[in-house]
Amino acid sequence: MLKITFIYCFIFLCVEMNTRDEMLDIDEFRCICRALFRNDKGKIYSLSEMQLREIFEVFDKNEDGYLDKEEFAFCWNNWIKIVVRPISVFLIVDVQNDFISGSLNISHCSAQQDGTEVIEPINRLLDTVQFDAVFYSLDWHPSDHISFIDNIGQRELDPSSPVTAENAKVYDTVIFKGPPPMKQKLWPRHCVQDTWGSELHKDLKVIDNSIKVYKGTNPEVDSYSVFWDNRKLTDTTLCAQLRMKNATDIYVCGLAYDVCVGATAIDALSIGYRTILLDDCSRGVDLVDIEKTKNSVIDNNGVIVNSSDVKAMVEGRDRRPELGYKLAMELKNYSMDN
Ligand SMILES: [Zn+2]
Repeated sequence: MLKITFIYCFIFLCVEMNTRDEMLDIDEFRCICRALFRNDKGKIYSLSEMQLREIFEVFDKNEDGYLDKEEFAFCWNNWIKIVVRPISVFLIVDVQNDFISGSLNISHCSAQQDGTEVIEPINRLLDTVQFDAVFYSLDWHPSDHISFIDNIGQRELDPSSPVTAENAKVYDTVIFKGPPPMKQKLWPRHCVQDTWGSELHKDLKVIDNSIKVYKGTNPEVDSYSVFWDNRKLTDTTLCAQLRMKNATDIYVCGLAYDVCVGATAIDALSIGYRTILLDDCSRGVDLVDIEKTKNSVIDNNGVIVNSSDVKAMVEGRDRRPELGYKLAMELKNYSMDN
């Protein structure tokens, strides 16, 4: 019923525009947004007046206060179509033995969260939701990796380092000598390539045609984000693979919430993807840092949802205004010729 109302709204508007050469004003655009941003249970999501106007201005390229045929065509092709039919990618971050029951078992960290809890909701999504692509990332370190506390003697520290090599304890942050000097949190040895600790947890489903992305492979620099190392020196294959798939939406979850999951979500947003962080499919290290992660995702126009919301979102039946706003802002400097 809702779907029919939504489609009729657009057919009506398009016919109107074609037959009478009418232009859309902000009130008609508001009507479109009311039809667009809702879920399949009849809930209409509100978009603030300020955000509505900002979005309208993105499409009103000649700034005359109306969307003419050409401007509406751009809006339709580059915005409405994606809001209604997103291309959704599922990115499962570092659900590996060492973070769950091995040397960097997050349940021993301050938040005392249980990493196994992410497996069941992730598996359920893999069973029930038709994603356009599924990626698994793996922390994949060589034995001489810079983040391991037992390797601290292998590299010189900068005089500005708040902790000396002799006094350094696990989870301390040191500064290695540059150039440029580089901050590094010290972790227990973890996820060493081709060991049990670096394997995905045995209960995590690995689906056919999924893609594995390996990070942290350079011994000299750590890599929290699945996109780049912490110094943004080199990227993984993820960017290129997402472009190949024409991905629009990225669902991020896994371990650890406030470290690799958070860094990945923030990078996805900075590249321009509509980004959704799955709260119940992620577990972390520190409660304060988890809260900071959530805030920075929301501040950057991402959304945080539980896995029960995902199917309707992927199928375009639950359309979030935050993601619509995010996409519109990405289209700000985009030429209409595209
Ligand atoms: Zn690591």
